Amino acid sequence: MMQSFIFPGLTTRVVFGSGTTARAGDEVRRLGHDKVLVLSTPHQQADAERLAATLGELSAGIFAGAVMHTPLDVTQKAVDAFRSSGATAVVSLGGGSTTGLGKAIAVRTGADQVVIPTTYAGSEMTDILGETAAGEKTTRRSPDIRPETVIYDVDLTLSLPVGLTVTSAMNAIAHAMEAFYAPDRNPVIVLMCKDALAAFHKGIPALIADPHDRTARAEALYAAWCCSAALGSVQMALHHKLAHVFGGSFDTPHAETHAILLPYTTAFNEQAVPDLLAPIADAFGGGTAGGGIWDFARSVGSPLSLRAIGIQEADLDRATAIAVKNAYANPRPIDPGSLRELLQAAWEGRRPGA
Ligand code: NAD
Repeated sequence: MMQSFIFPGLTTRVVFGSGTTARAGDEVRRLGHDKVLVLSTPHQQADAERLAATLGELSAGIFAGAVMHTPLDVTQKAVDAFRSSGATAVVSLGGGSTTGLGKAIAVRTGADQVVIPTTYAGSEMTDILGETAAGEKTTRRSPDIRPETVIYDVDLTLSLPVGLTVTSAMNAIAHAMEAFYAPDRNPVIVLMCKDALAAFHKGIPALIADPHDRTARAEALYAAWCCSAALGSVQMALHHKLAHVFGGSFDTPHAETHAILLPYTTAFNEQAVPDLLAPIADAFGGGTAGGGIWDFARSVGSPLSLRAIGIQEADLDRATAIAVKNAYANPRPIDPGSLRELLQAAWEGRRPGA
């Protein structure tokens, strides 16, 4: 029998396609604004300048200083730039770092957000904001953090380097994996996640063969939307907690950390909820969800071990202690011993169960 559920709806408006960045001005006006600040990282400043030119008189300027993990000092500068520009909304063009900066401005000023995501990290559909100050990352959820409009433009993802294409896709798959067993999951999100796995399974190998394959880019970006909607709709558990521990306390790179941990967190929870994680084995093969995702990771050249990103074996005890400090929902109870084993396997990079 189908379990009972609540579907809260998806409140963010989504425009998906090729060349859709040209519709940014219409989307800004639709939200009732006539001045916007365009946000980007320094690396994507040229894209931001092109967008500002397209926006014409709607553009109140560019702030191209977004960096990873939304540090408060950068946010303060961006809020000052936003206020002095006369803008009432932001257009965030870039990956999760730029989206994070737009959210940080929105939550402090009430600005509306139009987001144009260029990676598969999946921040754009969520009400989640992670911020760092003095080396500590804190995360909060609030309705005023969630962007009003997301414009997915396949063309802007053509330049995504192959390495980040792969790890960013694994980051997105992690949202789907935890959505499958989330206590507040619903059938719409589960369907979207299943569709996302199939699309990534098809799209990512094609993008390794040809990063400019537009059909594969569209598959991957569609999958990213589904996974972002999942992240923004339901609770996350052990996997996201561990990624947060390594990113926050060991300063590991965001997408790689998710990519490395995913087979091990999947295998760990598969022991408790094999039926709920069966869609992963269905999508990737391999006999088990954890084994299947590890096989996929290896086949697409995703990093496989924590030691490959600079974690020392001696760090694993500290990571375990931080991860078990506060209780959080997870389908399998978490104890220091089994968590330490999970991290050992992830540090070595061996196939789960091997
Ligand atoms: P990123 O935004 O830091 O981008 C990495 C680099 O790639 C940047 O220099 C960026 O300019 C560049 N880049 C992005 N797209 C490109 C493209 N198409 N072509 C060429 N270069 C491109 O990386 P990310 O993995 O997307 O985001 C990571 C950040 O997002 C972390 O801070 C993470 O905490 C946050 N995040 C937040 C949520 C949420 O819901 N709050 C969800 C996922 C990620």
